[in-house]
Amino acid sequence: ALELIDIYKSYGSLEVLKGVSLSASDGEVISILGSSGSGKSTLLRCINLLEKPSKGRILVSGEELELIPGKDGYLQAKTARQLERMRSQIGFVFQNFNLWPHKSIIENIIEAPTQVLHKSKDEAIARAEKLLDRVGLLEKRNAYPANLSGGQQQRIAIARALAMEPQVLLFDEPTSALDPELVNEVLAVMRSLADEGRTMLIVTHEMRFAREVSSQVVFLHKGQIEESGTPEEVFDRPKSQRVKDFMASHG
Ligand code: ATP
Ligand code: MG
Repeated sequence: ALELIDIYKSYGSLEVLKGVSLSASDGEVISILGSSGSGKSTLLRCINLLEKPSKGRILVSGEELELIPGKDGYLQAKTARQLERMRSQIGFVFQNFNLWPHKSIIENIIEAPTQVLHKSKDEAIARAEKLLDRVGLLEKRNAYPANLSGGQQQRIAIARALAMEPQVLLFDEPTSALDPELVNEVLAVMRSLADEGRTMLIVTHEMRFAREVSSQVVFLHKGQIEESGTPEEVFDRPKSQRVKDFMASHG
């Protein structure tokens, strides 16, 4: 489960998030929609403190991340230890894959389990191979990222996130850097994760996918939730004119 309570974030005088709250129970998939600059990436990045929020509370599996004000005026983790532990419970998949270019695929996947979770290399490899099989890429175990297609790299990035056995998965536009013909292979993996009851937050412009997999849809506008509800509510009968216009222009 993941709970965000009243998250604020500014960059200097620019207020990017203005009191966003949302709550994903175990097994829930929340899609976050909104136009460019509405604060979607910033919100995801605040969850594991890749960006420091100005204000707000963050709970993962019911455990609250202890935050204290830093000298820069932003919140920071009270203890590095709790932050590291909570980060290891949050899998993050980015638009641009972010695989380590000088490590093979299998090395990419076992890095965090061995270094952060202190698993034995044999155990980490066995699990990595299962995950590679799951995303359909076991035969690429010794390849390097540069020799894979974008869709393959993104499936590896998902396998790498899963290797940490996270409680929550965050996806920031995971298919928007891909050629159109490669989008579906990534969405298929994400759909299988949703079907098995993973807790997920997904920023996406894939409207049909969002409608099919989400339990909740949240529409952000200028750092606030403009509207939220079930996919039927938000896609088929939005209340806000802004959401209506967005849906009309995004098929
Ligand atoms: P997109 O759909 O284009 O990815 P987004 O909804 O993810 O947009 P964010 O990336 O969260 O939007 O950005 C929200 C606002 O914060 C934008 O106005 C952006 O310019 C600003 N912003 C983001 N990162 C920084 C930063 N590091 N420094 C200053 N301003 C930033
Ligand atoms: Mg973004």
